[in-house]
Amino acid sequence: MSSRLRELMGPYADEAERCIRCGFCNSVCPTTLSSIGHIPSRTSRGRLVLLQSSLEKGTPHPFTPRFKELIDLCIGCLRCVSVCPARIPIPTVMSSYRRAYTVAVRGKPLSRGERVVANYEPVVKYLSRAPGLLRKMLLGKPLLWLFRRVAGFADDAPLPIPEGGTLDNHFKNRKPRPGYQTLAYFSDTYARFVKPSIGISARELLRTAEIELVYPRQYDSGVIFWELGLWDKVKKLAALNVEILSGEVEKGRKILCTSPASTLMLREVYPRLLDNEKSRTVSEAVVDINELINSLVESGRLSANLSGLSFILHSTCLSQYLHLTSHIAGTFEKLGARVGGVATECCGSGGLWGLFRKNRGLSTEIGGKLLKRLGPSGAVLSYSETCAQQIISLTQGKKAVYLPHEALYNWVRRAATHYQSEHIAQAS
Ligand code: SF4
Ligand code: SF4
Repeated sequence: MSSRLRELMGPYADEAERCIRCGFCNSVCPTTLSSIGHIPSRTSRGRLVLLQSSLEKGTPHPFTPRFKELIDLCIGCLRCVSVCPARIPIPTVMSSYRRAYTVAVRGKPLSRGERVVANYEPVVKYLSRAPGLLRKMLLGKPLLWLFRRVAGFADDAPLPIPEGGTLDNHFKNRKPRPGYQTLAYFSDTYARFVKPSIGISARELLRTAEIELVYPRQYDSGVIFWELGLWDKVKKLAALNVEILSGEVEKGRKILCTSPASTLMLREVYPRLLDNEKSRTVSEAVVDINELINSLVESGRLSANLSGLSFILHSTCLSQYLHLTSHIAGTFEKLGARVGGVATECCGSGGLWGLFRKNRGLSTEIGGKLLKRLGPSGAVLSYSETCAQQIISLTQGKKAVYLPHEALYNWVRRAATHYQSEHIAQAS
């Protein structure tokens, strides 16, 4: 069994074996720093110890649901990567184990809920395009209740419900304004089919800095397949996206991402999986929306007066890993807003992990620490779609939570409307 696990994990088996069992990763791991963290096998260090034992001795048996459950307590937040003295890419090692599991276990290696999650893209695509009445019926309380039961999702888990419409439609037939700088926009599925307003606000905001977004044909980034360990599917999607996006780079365009998960996939995961020149070219051309906006504000190409506005910044796990927090805080501070605190706690969503009934208690417990830091009132900026949804859900909608660029666009638009109405009033 040990040789089978070693064969399937490939170089990531060696990575697991480099663990010196220091436990530094435990000190930052959200699931370890919870009420179950006193059980050694449920800690980050414990997962490495389990893998080492399975690789060396074949015990415990690695391809049992019980073993996988323990590995699945890694929610892929990436917080441990910077503290590990052995520089082990811990979440990738865990993903590599999941991949091994899906290959080694015959029949149905994925649970019913995981199979539902794996079909996220076609489901939200269909719902976003469904005619109004049908959409309303499908998203009505009785069918959603049934869906939650079948998939094993918790009753209070924030599902990604499509707001209607697609980014494909929004960008169709829109030609870039002559003279404007153009960027190719990789939106990924959430903005494309669940919340197109994310992409629309990015487009409109950047236009004020004379930047146009073009919207190339694109496929899902594969981040959910990555979480589930379905590496072959991620590879296929990566190859398709890289082929298209490298063509955009050849035209001299940067690749804009408005989701930290997409920034991560295009920058790090695609080159790791494909290991070719084109994927590295695309990786180098990626610019995250928060990096871009901060540089535009710094150079004076984008300006607004935000004095009098105050936010709490939630520095999400991916924002921390991708070093985006300073870009977000810098943007708002330069524009005169008051960043009334930076909360660095994990929200507990773990992508779609926190949706499952079996994980919801732990997910809520982890998120509870963040809520204490955020306090009872005030607007929150949180750069992650799932983190924003989790905070809204945990506070039962009492907190206003925005993606940073959405908040900025809303304010710029409101200021423009106010300016226009003042001028109309003066003229009449
Ligand atoms: S990625 Fe996050 S959840 Fe997984 S071991 Fe590291 S700190 Fe813990
Ligand atoms: S920090 Fe790295 S070396 Fe230390 S226990 Fe965790 S994985 Fe092992």
